[in-house]
Parts: sequence; C-alpha cells; structure tokens
Amino acid sequence: METVTLARNAMATRFELVLHGGNAGRLRAAGEEALAEVDRLEARLSLYRPSSEIAQVNAQAARRPVRVSPPVFRLLQHAQRLQRETGGMFDIAAAPLVRCWGFMDGGRRVPGADEIAQARQRSGFGHILLDETDFTARFDREGVMIDLGAIGKGFAIDRAADILREAGLTSALLHGGTSTVYGLGHPPDAAGWKVAIIEAPDAPRLGAAVVLRDSALSVSAVWARSFEAAGRTYGHVIDPRTGHPVNHAILAAVGLPSATETDAFSTALLVAGLEGRDAIARLRPDMRALVVGGAEQNFRAESSGITLPAD
Ligand code: AMP
Ligand code: MG
Repeated sequence: METVTLARNAMATRFELVLHGGNAGRLRAAGEEALAEVDRLEARLSLYRPSSEIAQVNAQAARRPVRVSPPVFRLLQHAQRLQRETGGMFDIAAAPLVRCWGFMDGGRRVPGADEIAQARQRSGFGHILLDETDFTARFDREGVMIDLGAIGKGFAIDRAADILREAGLTSALLHGGTSTVYGLGHPPDAAGWKVAIIEAPDAPRLGAAVVLRDSALSVSAVWARSFEAAGRTYGHVIDPRTGHPVNHAILAAVGLPSATETDAFSTALLVAGLEGRDAIARLRPDMRALVVGGAEQNFRAESSGITLPAD
C-alpha cells in the first residue's frame, strides 16, 4: 500500500490531498488532475480575478444579462435553492454586506448605520434573475454582488473527489483550508476518516470528532476571519437578516455526503445559532449538525449526529 500527499495554494487557502492505493504513480497523476481542476474552478469563480465568470457577472449584470458556463450556472442555481431553503441565512448575494464590514478589501471596520442600510438594499438573491433558457444572470440594480466564499471551496472539493473516484481511487482525504474536508472511502487501517473539530481559541475544549466515509464535513467559525473593535469581536459571517456579523454563535459544523452542501449549510448554521439549529438540521435527513454558542451562552455546544464527549 502506497501513500501520496499533494498540496496546492488556491482559493486564498491551502488544499491538501492524502491518497492511498497500490501504485504511487497512478495516485500522483490522479491527485495532480484533481488539483488542476481546483485551479480551473478558481479561475472561473474567484471574485478577485477580473477575468473570472463571477467577476464578469458582478461587473456587468446590472446592465445586461451575463452568460456563464453550464457548471457555474448550476452552482448559482444550487446557491439560490440553498438561500431559499435556509430562509436567507445562506446567501451568496449578501456580498455587499460582507464588503461593507471590510471583509473583502481588508479594511475591516465597523460601518455606520447608513452604510449598512445602503448595503442591505443591494443584498439578497431576490435581486438576481437566473435565466435557464440561456444560462444568464441579471441583477435588478447597480451594486448587487455575488461572493462564493461560503460555498466555492466545498464545490471544488466535490469536483476534486469526483476526479479521484473516476480515476479509480478508493481511499483519499481531501481538504480546503481545513474548513471543508471530504473522506473518500476509508483509510487502509480504519472504517472511516476520523476528523477532529477544533474549538475556538478562547472556548473550553470541545473534543468533538466525526468519522467520514464518502462524506464531507465543513466548519464555519467567527474567529476564522475577524477583527476587534471597542472590545468586541466581529467575524466574517454576516447575518443577512440584520446586516451585522454573527456573534450569538462562534462555531458551526455540518456533515453530509456533499461538500458543496456542508460548506453552505455550515455558514447558514452559524447564522442560525443554537436557536435555529433544528430548522437547519431538518433540511436534509442525514445532516450532522453542531453549534457552539457565544460567550453569553457559555459556549454551550449542541449537536445531532456529532458525538460530544460527556461533560
Ligand atoms: P464560510 O467560512 O464557509 O462560513 O464562508 C464565509 C464567507 O462567506 C465569508 O468570508 C464571506 O465571504 C461569505 N459570507 C459571509 N456571510 C455569508 C452568508 N450569510 N451567506 C453566504 N456567504 C456569506
Ligand atoms: Mg461555508
């Protein structure tokens, strides 16, 4: 049994693959092909590459319908479905709010109430028309923006896993920035890939672990990208319903067969918090869902399908 590990910096993070199988050369070739697909997807999806399909949509869709490739159109449709299912808690069109809090240009700061109000008027999938007859996206006003930051890595992991599977691999672990992990098959010495969920730096130890077998796990956390102002922490996940960063929960984790869905749902679950956990968990029969509340909830953890060590 051979083991090959490969890594690539892409999508502003680091993707890593661990591949097990009989022939190191074949493992390496399949892994390189999977990482090449991640690169291709970044070139299509990145907000920060002016030539990407998403950047083109953002730049032009307020003036005319912009055509995208079939896989990108399907991803936008999937994101629209997820936005509706989550009652708007997951919304790729919350981008004007993400930007308003400085999480796009790096100038993280607390915006004024008027700025937030303006950004809210341009936020929400309701401002986007997807036309299936010609694969176009159209915005109903200037300033609308799409940001796949909460779903793109999961989508890339799913496509990379597809490529490994098509190449005949039966045992692999893939992750993007450790926030989305996919376990293909199982490792040579165990029935599944055991993945630990690391808690907030300032919260009590969680010690939760999940076993993945042809399934994915995603974690969304406030501290993953955040800034401090006047003694408060502001994180990069925005509650589209209020226009403010989430702080009633510090971490959410979701397990499902699809990494695209775990990525999106973990973000939605962070927005939902402890109170909204059941509503999100009900959306897929096989969803594993963990939420850790904020300081005012004593970092209380609640989960279904993710075993927490007994207190
Ligand atoms: P994740 O780490 O997968 O939870 O994704 C968080 C990223 O998605 C943020 O850095 C923003 O770019 C974007 N984002 C923030 N809030 C939301 C939201 N409510 N729905 C969708 N995307 C969001
Ligand atoms: Mg996500």
